[in-house]
Amino acid sequence: MHPRDLSDHVAYQAGRGIEEVARELGRDPSEFVKLASNENALGPAPAAVEAIQSAASGVSSYPKATHADLTAALADRWGVTDDQVWLANGGDGAIDYLSRAMLEPGDDILVPTPGFAYYGMSARFHHGDVTEYELSRDDDFTQDARTVLEAYNGERIVYLTSPHNPSGSTIALEAIETIATETDDETLVVVDEAYGEFADVDSAVALLEGENGFEQREDVAVLRTFSKAYGLAGLRLGYAIVPEAWADAYARVNTPFAASELACRAGLAALEDTTHVDRTIDVVETARNAMEADITAHVWPSQGNFVLVDVGRDEAESQSNSDGEATAVAEAMQTRGVIVRDCTSFGLSDCIRITCGTAEETHRAVETLNTVLEERASDTAAPDESEVSNP
Ligand SMILES: *Cc1c(COP(=O)(O)O)cnc(C)c1O
Repeated sequence: MHPRDLSDHVAYQAGRGIEEVARELGRDPSEFVKLASNENALGPAPAAVEAIQSAASGVSSYPKATHADLTAALADRWGVTDDQVWLANGGDGAIDYLSRAMLEPGDDILVPTPGFAYYGMSARFHHGDVTEYELSRDDDFTQDARTVLEAYNGERIVYLTSPHNPSGSTIALEAIETIATETDDETLVVVDEAYGEFADVDSAVALLEGENGFEQREDVAVLRTFSKAYGLAGLRLGYAIVPEAWADAYARVNTPFAASELACRAGLAALEDTTHVDRTIDVVETARNAMEADITAHVWPSQGNFVLVDVGRDEAESQSNSDGEATAVAEAMQTRGVIVRDCTSFGLSDCIRITCGTAEETHRAVETLNTVLEERASDTAAPDESEVSNP
């Protein structure tokens, strides 16, 4: 007895957790800060915690009414109909629903590289396949219509991530409109705005609603989550906003009761707690600025709650010397109690991604990284000098 051929499938690599790392190193969890998974440094909204506590005794019932209530609240927030809000088990669950609704076996999707692994995983679960467009680091991971359209070859879904994980770059709504216009009528453009709250660009919901001077479209959907700005990653709550024209497909593709009673209650409370979101955004902006200013290596400007850092050796060194530097730096930081994301699994073997923490956590991350970089530079200085032959 075997599962189907899963040789094309890869396991999702999550950022490492404090418990896991502390156990491995035989240390106390309290010595660590985790800045590896783009979680909310302030934790969940206090109102959401209260809602979860008071809803606990009601979990023997299916979440029919609360599911409807949260859907209505989100529809109201975005100015769309209830049908257009596809609640799911995390943003990842919403990606699955879009795959289910769109993909026939053998259909391809087009995704960014480097990029978020789950787009491709979901397509493969649904018997689809994946092609990639490259966001070039030499071009600072700039996202524009040309880059996507040059790689486009009739794929059924095109994923855009704005702000982009792991670089933090964004794409203009005009470019999204161009991509949607230039691609096939049956190609859906999904704009993943998991980090949308942290960016100073407008949501692509304007495109499917025909607002801000855009024509209303049936081929753009937007993905949002409660995992990042709302601090509810552990509850698994996210949603897609889809065009009215085919929004009723949800009823035929969703797993019954797509979001749990606790998730729906917490989501409703978190939506109302705008103070918490505003504070979160402030903390993120402060941390981003501090990391951009104070890290001695190159930091790409980011619109997310994280920054991507180039920890490769200087350019005079060969590419192969730089390879694997991310793993070495991430491990050295971890030994010093700061857990960051090694971006090797994104195909960036000399980059790390650091989540925005509180001022104190961020300061510690910056100091730790700078110390590690300095130590690694002086470790290699001696052999380098002896090797120099050409001035
Ligand atoms: C975090 C993230 C998501 C969604 O995560 P969920 O926890 O499943 O809501 C989606 N896209 C990107 C790019 C992300 O980083």
